[in-house]
Amino acid sequence: MAPLSSTELGDWEELVYRFRDLAENFHLHGLLFQHLELCERRAWFHMNRIDYAHLDERMRLGAVSHEIHRPRDHSVTGLIGVAPDRIDWEYRKVIEAKGSAGAREAVSMQTRFYALLLMAATGQRWSAANEIIGGRKQLPVAIERHHIQDMVDMAEQLAVLAESNLAPPASKKAVCKSCSYRYLCGFE
Ligand code: SF4
Repeated sequence: MAPLSSTELGDWEELVYRFRDLAENFHLHGLLFQHLELCERRAWFHMNRIDYAHLDERMRLGAVSHEIHRPRDHSVTGLIGVAPDRIDWEYRKVIEAKGSAGAREAVSMQTRFYALLLMAATGQRWSAANEIIGGRKQLPVAIERHHIQDMVDMAEQLAVLAESNLAPPASKKAVCKSCSYRYLCGFE
């Protein structure tokens, strides 16, 4: 039987608030979860603001395309780390626009991050979706209890990374070929 809950979150409540506390205490933001899903070392680079976005064509184009597409939603000003593209308050749905449908699970992490913080702020369950820039199609982002547990585990991993002065060791993987940090890593 699900534990008793004082909110509509039901048996998600404890995990959602644990996630919120980790995000606030370690200043975690959504993009970090996307990076961590792909590579721990990449997440550390991003966390420490070590990049060369101004030199990488893909990163520059991605940033410009995102800014042109639509302005950020300002209705969540004051909620730490929450800056999704669109929020449907009526249907409790958060939508994040993305440049492509690639790395779908990694991209979903960022959108889940927003949904979890909105759940913590409102005490209600939210759904999430990604929208591909230039199209109207929305790709639903699943949120079940095990996804929330995964996000808590990742937040704990990021909290450890945040305290580390050294980048985790690199191991070559498929994503390295297109990784925007590959020059820093020595894989290029
Ligand atoms: S090049 Fe590979 S190992 Fe290095 S940060 Fe990118 S994904 Fe990680």
